[in-house]
Amino acid sequence: MRDKLKNLLFFTYMLTFLSGANFQLFASYIDDSHPSENFNQRVKYLVIHCIGLSEEETLKTLTKSGEHGGGGVSAHWLVPSKKPSGVEKFPLYSLVKEEDRAWHAGESYWRRDANINGISIGVEFHSPGYGVGGDIYNFGTFSEEQILAGFQLLKDIRERYQISPENVVYHSDIAPARKTDPGINFPGKRLHYEYGVGMWPDQAYNSSIGGPSSTRAVTELLKKIGYKIEPSEELDASSCKVVSAFQLHYRPQDYSGDIDAETGFIAAQLVKQYNL
Ligand SMILES: [Zn+2]
Repeated sequence: MRDKLKNLLFFTYMLTFLSGANFQLFASYIDDSHPSENFNQRVKYLVIHCIGLSEEETLKTLTKSGEHGGGGVSAHWLVPSKKPSGVEKFPLYSLVKEEDRAWHAGESYWRRDANINGISIGVEFHSPGYGVGGDIYNFGTFSEEQILAGFQLLKDIRERYQISPENVVYHSDIAPARKTDPGINFPGKRLHYEYGVGMWPDQAYNSSIGGPSSTRAVTELLKKIGYKIEPSEELDASSCKVVSAFQLHYRPQDYSGDIDAETGFIAAQLVKQYNL
C-alpha cells in the first residue's frame, strides 16, 4: 500500500513536471521509521461455512452480483468438494481478497461483537446435499481431499492472523436463529487435534462425572463462550436455537436444543480450558 502511494506521489510529481503546469508543488514523502505498537489485526475471527448448491451454482452465487448472482453474498475462500479432472493439485478458490470485506456472515454476534463481516475471514466448504429442499437440517458431507486441503488453509489463516481458539466459529455459532452450517458432519474435533484450529474439550463426557444441567447454569456458560444468549431459568425459542447451535458444533450426535448434563459438561470444560 505504502509503495503504491509512493509511486503515486512520484508519478503525480513527474506528470506535473512534464506537463509544465504553472503551480508550486508541495513535495512530501512518507517516513515509516516510527511504527506504532498500539494496534491490532483487523481480522479477529475465522468463520467456517458450508454451501450445498451445485459447484457451478455455488461459484455463481458467491461471485456474481445482481440478478446473475446470489443476492450479494460472498466469502474470502471456497474449498471445492473435489479436485476438477485434469488438474494435478487441489484448488482453493480465492474469491475476495483477505484485506477486503466479504459478505458471508450477515446479521451476527460473537463475544460482544456484532457485524462479524468487518472483522473476520470467511471460508466456505462446498458440501453437496446441504440444505436440499430448503431444509437447513439436511446436512451435506465433506470429502477427505477437501478436508486435507481446506484444513491446511484454515491453519494458515489462523496462524497469519493469530486467531485465538474461541474466535474460530461456525456460521451457526454466530447466527443461531438463521443458520446451521457447516453442520454435524464437519469434523471440528479433527480440526482442533490435527491442525490446532478452534476449541475442543480435552475431557470426554462420562455420565458418572455429570455436569451442570440447570438452564441458568448452562445459559450462563454459553454466554461466557460467546453466544448471544441471556441467562435465564427457562429456554425461550431463541435461546433453544443457541443451545442447538452449540450442540451442532460440539455434540453433533444430538442437537435437539434441550439442555442436559453432557451439554453442560462440554460448555463448562470449554470455559475452564480456554479461560472464557
Ligand atoms: Zn454460512
